[in-house]
Amino acid sequence: MDPNTKIKPEIGPEAAKSPASSQLEPGGHSDSAVNNNPWLAILRQSWLRWFGFFMLLAILVAVVVLAKPAVSSWLSASTGNKAAAQTPSASEEAGQSLPQVSRANLNPYLSRLITSGSTEPADFRADVITYTVQSGDFLFAIADKFKIKPETILWSNYDVLKDNPEIIVPGQVLNILPVDGLYYQWQAGDRLDTVASTYGVTPEDIILWPGNYLSPTIDIQNPGIPPGMWLVVPGGHREFKAWEPQIVRSTSGTSWTFGGPGACNGVYSGSAGTGSWFLPTASNWIVGNNYSAYHHGIDLYLTLGEPVHAADRGVIVYAGWNTWGYGNLIVIDHGNGWQTVYGHLSRIDVGCGYTVQRGGQIGLGGSTGNSTGPHLHFEMIYNGVRVDPHGYYSLR
Ligand SMILES: [Zn+2]
Repeated sequence: MDPNTKIKPEIGPEAAKSPASSQLEPGGHSDSAVNNNPWLAILRQSWLRWFGFFMLLAILVAVVVLAKPAVSSWLSASTGNKAAAQTPSASEEAGQSLPQVSRANLNPYLSRLITSGSTEPADFRADVITYTVQSGDFLFAIADKFKIKPETILWSNYDVLKDNPEIIVPGQVLNILPVDGLYYQWQAGDRLDTVASTYGVTPEDIILWPGNYLSPTIDIQNPGIPPGMWLVVPGGHREFKAWEPQIVRSTSGTSWTFGGPGACNGVYSGSAGTGSWFLPTASNWIVGNNYSAYHHGIDLYLTLGEPVHAADRGVIVYAGWNTWGYGNLIVIDHGNGWQTVYGHLSRIDVGCGYTVQRGGQIGLGGSTGNSTGPHLHFEMIYNGVRVDPHGYYSLR
């Protein structure tokens, strides 16, 4: 196409210019500041080039607008299934191609048409693939790698992950869906309409997903899908099932504690927290999972064996091993409705009922429990409800 060949010579000299101009700097850094004219000339020149570039861009857009009917009809022909799956009104008339074409022609989102037209044939994938968890992997990183949401990974690997990003360990084999949504194993007696509505989609969303290999004329109420077969539910979503360690209310009335082997029995007293929060790690860098609907804490960067500090003054109500993936775990009750949680520690320096001061060392950082690398899993709980630490710390 000639728009391409027009742009390239424009960009070429511009790109060639910047290395040349930066070469001036090491030679005469003080001189160039005095001699202004060449810089002004370069600036003016590059401004003109940018102006020209944007004019060309405008012409290109105009060309595409004129060519829109042709582009959209080509698109609806090549991705007819997908368009139908995304628009319920079109999918109600599954099997008829004409309504889909007219729908596509009405689509006002020109830029979206262009991007999907240019990228979809290249990286489109219909089938589910698997990925083996590597050392150092986190849910967010894996999701990023495959350009899907972290939720999608949890919703397609319940058998392995139980909705708990804390139990991702190297060697696990995860299903990676080709699209955001969930992976559903067909049960005897299921109907497509009830399965679809359970996960917030239409039956056509499931039927028309190419990787499901279902007939477009399948009987929705009695589809004859063999029990045990896995189906991609594009756009499907559900609530997360509770995976968190049980919070047990102690008899003191203000103290809550985690159930598990390291749980402290008895009622402890001590000074209440100051209400001012101390960062438990040296770094404020979130290295793993961030706070979310399925990860009610933050994974803070630390090095193995680095001291971990109490976020505020309080009393230890959990100190020991935890079977829910946290490894060596400490929970501090701050006596003012707040508790803080410290997971994956390599060493615990406190015991049940100990009073700790704000900023005091409570243990060493580690990678115990289900963890793919050293980090501190840190949670803040207020009256039994997990709270986003971003509201109390400056994190990056
Ligand atoms: Zn975590």
